[in-house]
Amino acid sequence: MAWTCINCEASNDYNASTCEVCGMERYFSISEVNDLLKMQELEPTEIKKIQTNFKRASTENKNLRQKNKELSQRMNDLESFHTKHKPEMQRLEKQVAHLHLWNKRWKIAVVLSGLTILFFLLAKITVTIQF
Ligand SMILES: [Zn+2]
Repeated sequence: MAWTCINCEASNDYNASTCEVCGMERYFSISEVNDLLKMQELEPTEIKKIQTNFKRASTENKNLRQKNKELSQRMNDLESFHTKHKPEMQRLEKQVAHLHLWNKRWKIAVVLSGLTILFFLLAKITVTIQF
């Protein structure tokens, strides 16, 4: 009897413990676990313990899969948002680069005018000394 992967829904060989397509661990249903436990000839209390643990793990697994689904959905949303706004982002990046360039030019201009003022001041002093 084949089993169906809970992740990708591929049909796998009964003896395979992981999915042949995506590598996901085989998922046992509670009835399958109960059948397996019956064959093990365990104490009823031990069976109960295993069943409880299994149920807890199943619930956790279910919750995680749900979360995974939600996160994948959000990732997709973000990706499409990014794709949609890519031209806008590139335009803004260009503007920022442009501003950086002007900022640099402005700094150079400030330094140059400072030097010019200094030069004139020195020239004036020289002139004053000469005359
Ligand atoms: Zn799979």
